[in-house]
Amino acid sequence: MSTPPTANGDQQRSTANDFLFGLGGLTSSVGVVALNWVVANQLGFDAFSLFFWFVIPAGPLLAGAASGLGLYFIAKATHTRPSPIMLVQLLLIGGWTWFLYRYATYRTLDIDGAAVNSAFTFPQFLDILVTKSTYSFGRYGQGSSYEAGTWGYWREGLSVLGVFAGSLVVFQALKESPTCQSCGRYANVAELQKEAIPLERIDRLMQEDNWDFGNLGNALQAVLDNSPAVRRVVGLTAASHSCGECLNIEVVWSLVAITDDKGTHTSVPVYRIGANNVMVQALRRDIAAVIKRPALTAPVLPPHAT
Ligand SMILES: [Zn+2]
Repeated sequence: MSTPPTANGDQQRSTANDFLFGLGGLTSSVGVVALNWVVANQLGFDAFSLFFWFVIPAGPLLAGAASGLGLYFIAKATHTRPSPIMLVQLLLIGGWTWFLYRYATYRTLDIDGAAVNSAFTFPQFLDILVTKSTYSFGRYGQGSSYEAGTWGYWREGLSVLGVFAGSLVVFQALKESPTCQSCGRYANVAELQKEAIPLERIDRLMQEDNWDFGNLGNALQAVLDNSPAVRRVVGLTAASHSCGECLNIEVVWSLVAITDDKGTHTSVPVYRIGANNVMVQALRRDIAAVIKRPALTAPVLPPHAT
């Protein structure tokens, strides 16, 4: 006998989810701090303290992102969409990770055989750690060394901002995770072809294939007309998005383009069309075949797009 979902049932499920999220957050937080501690002590490389050009907190960013992984995977597994509460949870986990990282050093550091934690309180230790650390300027750290002093507090503040930025990266990744259009669960994504397919090959596919491409050509034209940032089109990618719940399958075509001077590839979804497993397999085969054949002379897709 099945019971209809009740407010109470939802309540229980959300409590169970909160518990899972707390556990996941704590696990990845403790995990990354422990891993960093081991590497720092065995190899002398403390990844969390890594800064680029003295102002870019790369290590803290890594710490924030890595500490959010537990929550990320649980959100994926439980099909929980990112929410403001989840953002707060991620930021809390990030902040907690940074605290744990500092506290682990305090609890385990010995100087000349004497435990630091028996000589100083944690705030005292933190103050010393932050202001008395020395940094060398110049090539390969060969220049003179300077004590951080007040700058140390700026650096620590930047570190915490870096950690939060790492948490935001995880949140953004969840926000950008493709979802099923009908039920909102996270979709299973499978690329049909690893590399972007050049437009002239797509042309060929559209002219010779009996696959239903719907309005792909028009949709692509519309995206290109509204994307002044596109410098050069690399091609299109196709991926199947399938839902484990409602068994919906869609093929999503995305535009891969270069949008800056550095040649960074940016991908934007252009067109989605319903499909089934047989159609997806056929398309995968046809794409693999068409990229090996020569291009057509009369293009269908916008000529300025290549
Ligand atoms: Zn669905």
